[in-house]
Amino acid sequence: MNPHDNRVIGAVGAGDAQDVDDAVRAARKGFAVWSATPGTERSKVLRNIARGIERRKDALAALETADMGKPIEESAWDIDDVAACFDYYAERCEQVFGSGAYAVEDVKLPMDEFTGQLRREALGVIGLITPWNYPLLMATWKVAPALASGCAVVLKPSELASLSCQVLGDVCVEAGLPAGAFNVVTGTGVAAGAALCAHRGVDKISFTGSLATGKVIMATCARDVKPVSLELGGKSALVIFEDCDLDKAVEWALFGCFWTNGQICSATSRVFVHAVIRDKFLARLKEAAEAIPYGDPSVEGCRLGPLVSAGQYKKVTDMVHRAKRARYTLLTGGRKPLSPECKDGFYLEPTVFVDVPLDAEIWREEIFGPVMCVKTFSSEEEATALANDSDYALGAAVITDDPARRARMTAAFNSGIVWVNCSQPCFAQLPWGGRKRSGFGRDLGANGMDKYTHLKQVVTYVSDEPFAWYPMFTNPQSKL
Ligand code: NAD
Repeated sequence: MNPHDNRVIGAVGAGDAQDVDDAVRAARKGFAVWSATPGTERSKVLRNIARGIERRKDALAALETADMGKPIEESAWDIDDVAACFDYYAERCEQVFGSGAYAVEDVKLPMDEFTGQLRREALGVIGLITPWNYPLLMATWKVAPALASGCAVVLKPSELASLSCQVLGDVCVEAGLPAGAFNVVTGTGVAAGAALCAHRGVDKISFTGSLATGKVIMATCARDVKPVSLELGGKSALVIFEDCDLDKAVEWALFGCFWTNGQICSATSRVFVHAVIRDKFLARLKEAAEAIPYGDPSVEGCRLGPLVSAGQYKKVTDMVHRAKRARYTLLTGGRKPLSPECKDGFYLEPTVFVDVPLDAEIWREEIFGPVMCVKTFSSEEEATALANDSDYALGAAVITDDPARRARMTAAFNSGIVWVNCSQPCFAQLPWGGRKRSGFGRDLGANGMDKYTHLKQVVTYVSDEPFAWYPMFTNPQSKL
């Protein structure tokens, strides 16, 4: 469905356990070929994939917007990031593996009779399960480093937005990736996703999605002691100090929460503002939030589109209604926009609540919609304690002109990501991931291939003499 007008835009296969089994079998064959391919060759194919993505940029961006509703210029940005991520791991692949299929490092040992080596080898067949908020980009964060490592993958994209990931299949074929190295099985989580997690031919699951699904996946993987990495939800904080430029702070507060139609794992949906600037900040925030251009996301200039689906719309608006019923202070929004073009879509105005209680559902739970909560603070200590008081710990941001305060806040945040004087920008060069219930393992960055490789140690006995541990074997040089 296109969430803008609730019209059907296409049909997607509902893959089942048999489809997953076919894909895993294909991946095992693909793995044998791809993991033996030199790094320099793998890197060429990854670059070809990047070029194939670039050639289809406009079509892919339009598809993403029609499928999940993000503004067209955001989709175009995502597609640029997809190509850049494949290029980045093409470069890392060359750096790490060179002309070898695996990387080897000599390790000096304390006994001369032995030499030590460390081999970084491809882990195997990886099951990738991804969400709908950045359909192709979230998949790419896993596909690119996994392929660079020499792994074969079976990707199960979200059933709410799987069209662009199917196009990636065509791009991979065209780029010269061997058969079986990349597979896509569309379908629901309970059918295709669960079957992928339970499959004995899958060596690891790399998941991005909700906390609830992450727990189920971890439990399934535990049955076979299958490694798993989890990128889960968040309830990130943005702390705004009195010494900042107010306009910049307001813009980052909006971008930090309403970008991607508010459906961002790392959304800084809890905003803390210093008491001294509270009134000015709230007045400016209200004015700016009400001026965000919303509506048909396929039209250039749109900055807020619909929520992805009827189900997500109900979940978010139910939370907003409960907050309104509890009489929490609503600064702006909280309703479906009145504009006729939003009539059939899953639209919600940019919504801001102020000073809700610390135990309020909208304060503690991830909302995953354009809903922000603002709270006032009076001291750095108070802001730090409140910011860290969450079950999640994905991102945190601080806005201040004081360099010493920036350094203190950066150290004090307990999250996996810290933004200073901004919120949300993300680069393939830096690792992405959270702590606590936001999950574990890192996508992206120079270490992004760590989770798709395993380290094998090799110890070789190089002496011409016997080892001479037992008295019947002698070695005059033995130090035993
Ligand atoms: P979701 O958990 O509902 O679904 C994610 C994926 O898991 C989908 O492909 C789904 O089909 C699959 N799935 C569902 N049940 C399954 C099961 N029992 N076994 C195997 N697979 C199953 O999440 P969503 O609604 O698609 O995405 C939104 C969530 O993703 C939010 O919580 C958001 O914070 C999180 N997210 C996190 C990051 C991050 O980097 N930390 C990035 C994007 C999104």
